[in-house]
Amino acid sequence: MRYSPILAVIGLLIPGAIGQATDVAELPRLPASHLQQPRTDWLIDPSPFEAGVYRGDRTDEIILSNGLIRRRFRLSPNAATIAFDNVVTGQAIIRGVEPEALVEIDGASYEVGGLKGQPDYAFLTPEWADSLEADPKAPRFTGFTVGETKERFPWKRVRHHAPGVKWPPPGVSLRMDYSLPGSGIRVAVHYELYDGIPALCKWITVNNGTNRVITVNRFTSEILAAVEYATAVEFTGLAYRTPNIHVETDMAFGGFTQANANIRNVHWETDPDYKTQVSYRRLNPCLLKVSPDLGPDQRIEPGGTFESFRAFVLPYDSYDRERQGLALRRMYRTVAPWVTENPLMMHVRWSDWKSVKRAIDQCADVGFEMVILTFGSGFDIENDRPDYLAKMKRYADYAAGKGIEIGGYSLLASRTIGGGNNVVMPAGKKPRFNHSPCLGSVWAKTYFAKLYNFFEQTGFRLLEHDGSYPGDECIATTHPGHRGHADSRWAQWRVISDFYKYCRAHGVYLNVPDYYYLTGSSKCGMGYRESNWSLPRAQQVIHTRQNIYDGTWEKTPSMGWMFVPLTEYHGGGAAATIEPLDEHRDHYERMLYSNLAMGVQAAYRGPRLYDTSRTRDLVAQWVTWFKKHRDILESDVVHGRRADGRDIDWMLHVNPNLAQRGMVVVFNPLRRAVKKKIRVNLYYTGLTETAVIREQEGEPKTYVINRRDEVELPVEVGPESMTWFTISGQESRSR
Ligand SMILES: [Zn+2]
Repeated sequence: MRYSPILAVIGLLIPGAIGQATDVAELPRLPASHLQQPRTDWLIDPSPFEAGVYRGDRTDEIILSNGLIRRRFRLSPNAATIAFDNVVTGQAIIRGVEPEALVEIDGASYEVGGLKGQPDYAFLTPEWADSLEADPKAPRFTGFTVGETKERFPWKRVRHHAPGVKWPPPGVSLRMDYSLPGSGIRVAVHYELYDGIPALCKWITVNNGTNRVITVNRFTSEILAAVEYATAVEFTGLAYRTPNIHVETDMAFGGFTQANANIRNVHWETDPDYKTQVSYRRLNPCLLKVSPDLGPDQRIEPGGTFESFRAFVLPYDSYDRERQGLALRRMYRTVAPWVTENPLMMHVRWSDWKSVKRAIDQCADVGFEMVILTFGSGFDIENDRPDYLAKMKRYADYAAGKGIEIGGYSLLASRTIGGGNNVVMPAGKKPRFNHSPCLGSVWAKTYFAKLYNFFEQTGFRLLEHDGSYPGDECIATTHPGHRGHADSRWAQWRVISDFYKYCRAHGVYLNVPDYYYLTGSSKCGMGYRESNWSLPRAQQVIHTRQNIYDGTWEKTPSMGWMFVPLTEYHGGGAAATIEPLDEHRDHYERMLYSNLAMGVQAAYRGPRLYDTSRTRDLVAQWVTWFKKHRDILESDVVHGRRADGRDIDWMLHVNPNLAQRGMVVVFNPLRRAVKKKIRVNLYYTGLTETAVIREQEGEPKTYVINRRDEVELPVEVGPESMTWFTISGQESRSR
């Protein structure tokens, strides 16, 4: 039982009610299995790990648990997390008790919940937890509500995505209410715990029950006194590792990696309460605070509610890079499943009808799925003249008739607009891309209105949004979208993220060179150095597979885009380009399979996808091959050998939920054939004992899996060529 329907109804009838919205006694008891380290691996079979809210050992205790992580709350004399455990490892995640949130309202700071008096912040025993006291100044816990998870915004599913993904992610929600005594202001702390993955989402809302406008100056939505990653007595300048927990927010920007994109909001700080730590100067960064480092400084009208960003917390159950990556990539598939959309896309070089029609026709011929009117093509999304919009609608209608989606490019940051519309940075700071319009400016209001209108009018289904909002501050006081410096980042992020959520809700695919996945984007660069696409062709092939190998530690194959310049890009001349395509079919083929066999889409940029019938057949052949194996190719990856131009390189795709459990793709960059045995670890295919492996369309062979979960696979790959092996269990063979 996940939660009682009666309780849910009460919660529904009295939203934000003061008092007990639910009763501890009516919650189910924690299943015994949630107290024991699981026997099965959630990365192979997540089905046993259903999330729920349970009653604790005492009448004033509740537990949020899915059998993978377990967060225990004491409810009196105030509510606080008194234990947060990693059930998989059997280890504690936290050392001590902290407030559930911090808020600063109208200049006054409040600790929301929390308990005081822990004698030692190295660990928290149950006896100590019983003796903790409430801070008389802290807002008091008033009640909780248990419910279902809700979608953060709609996801309109209009194109191929991974089979079996669900939205919203199945799980349980818990809202805990607090009131500022005598003020009419209520703070709710929200948790969502998901089924089948040790990940939770946390955010806060502030409700203004007064009859005046109030201002939320600052907030901290998650605080964890986490168990330190490592201890060192001395400090010599070497950075300390932070605790073994992944944390990110949906207010991420300014980076191609999650860590860089979250530096403004995810902070690992030293813990002044942890006086017994080994670090002599108490410098261990083991106190997590999830908080915007500027603002939000948002005003709330009487009766209104402010909502914070969402923080996603994923405690790792291993120190292994591959396993951590698999966990993180599973989290993205769970909390942002649109990242599994992965259309084959062509960047058409020119936007006149003849060029676009040819691109659409060629895409349809070879099985590509999307045409993008690229930068420098003449396409102008800001042209809102009715005749232009009507022309673009004709483009989209023609494309739709051929089963092709069409979209276009727009540049936002890095432009200079003038007329008082640019961001005004604080003294000594520069915009991230040297110039940028402020998203709270008059110009930005018009720009976004044009974009909304363009998608409403034309039926275009993709936006490639270059130079998205990178987090620039703005001290201007004349911009209508923000009051001044303190609210400038929050206000700009809301403009861009609201627009991206609109796109996702309307089936518009987002390709954004920044980390906007959690607000609706599907793709960011896999690893991108623009000038590398001007290198000689053979070097580009190795860079391609290196970028994908490196990029897929943290991104699923479908989350990163690559690049294939069919015509000259930024230089390099004839040696760097594929055109004329027919003359370089060998290289074109290597670029096709180096991306497609990794499950990765590139932007194929040029005036045409083929110039002769044999080039057309070559492209169509690889697209057909990709689509035949699409489900496994777009599944997760286990890293094999990284490309280095000195030997074969390879990658393993895994998915224990498919009949085809795995696929090894092997590439030979050498000018001679290579014959050798490679050791492939099949653990994440879920297969044990034996595996049935088949090279290309050849005869299946049965391999014994050794005690290290490996098979020794003989491979023979011709010069500058590739091959693949599909992997399944015995049961598939007999079918
Ligand atoms: Zn501004």
